[in-house]
Amino acid sequence: MKKILQIIYKQKSDDGICKYAFETGDGHIIESVLIPNKSRQTLCVSSQVGCRIKCSFCATATIPFVRNLTSEEILAQLDIITGEKGTLNNIVFMGMGEPLDNYANVKAAVLALNDHKQYNIGQRHISISTVGLADMIRKFSDDNLPANLTVSLHSASDIGRKAIMGPGHRCSIEQLGDALEYYRDKVGRKIILSYCLIANINDSDSDLGKLIELAKSLDAQINLMQFNAHEKCSHRPASRDQLMKFHAALDNAGVTNTIRFSKGNSIAAACGQLARQRQ
Ligand code: SF4
Repeated sequence: MKKILQIIYKQKSDDGICKYAFETGDGHIIESVLIPNKSRQTLCVSSQVGCRIKCSFCATATIPFVRNLTSEEILAQLDIITGEKGTLNNIVFMGMGEPLDNYANVKAAVLALNDHKQYNIGQRHISISTVGLADMIRKFSDDNLPANLTVSLHSASDIGRKAIMGPGHRCSIEQLGDALEYYRDKVGRKIILSYCLIANINDSDSDLGKLIELAKSLDAQINLMQFNAHEKCSHRPASRDQLMKFHAALDNAGVTNTIRFSKGNSIAAACGQLARQRQ
């Protein structure tokens, strides 16, 4: 009998990140990324074959959307890598696909991950990263799913988000803000926004001013990172000076923020670089 997923290749980066490519039972390829550190092992899982959102900076956006992964296929990524590497302590839905665009299957996987009779992974160690689909953020909140939510903001203006996030992101900053306030009030968790700095696209003083304004109005935490360049996109990372400038200005404005330095660039395993490849 054909397995749900089969490893077709793995690659290890010079900074210790492992990228796995799996073939599904019907012949599609998805990727997962294992990020080990001293205290824990984090697995970044895929939730779809391709993605409908089509963000301008993302390698997954360059391949066709095929279908949602089933909850079994999402969990199989974890099962297979656990079999090779031992216990995984942290699961992030940040691989190929928009998790909230495959809500029913991601929900089933998250409930299994959190179930003490199954994977027994605490809510604080399961994270869903979304482009920010307002209607689905409300659904996530109503269901009180045991996972953290991080919204990939990347611009605090409608014009900026339209240019960066692609046609599939569906909602305005106002609609997104309303949905996030609903989430915060309903589940009582901090709003976390990630902001990836792209040179000459979202790294100006005006972009910074809008980000501070939005973060303060939502009392949100900001995760800052530099864009991970790859061959499928002409965007360039903002400079380190710009990154530090955003960090300092957010600090000065009283906005909690952290800088996330990415790993796995040498094997195209960093955020926004996953696109199935046969080798
Ligand atoms: S960044 Fe996420 S939502 Fe955007 S195209 Fe890539 S996989 Fe899809």
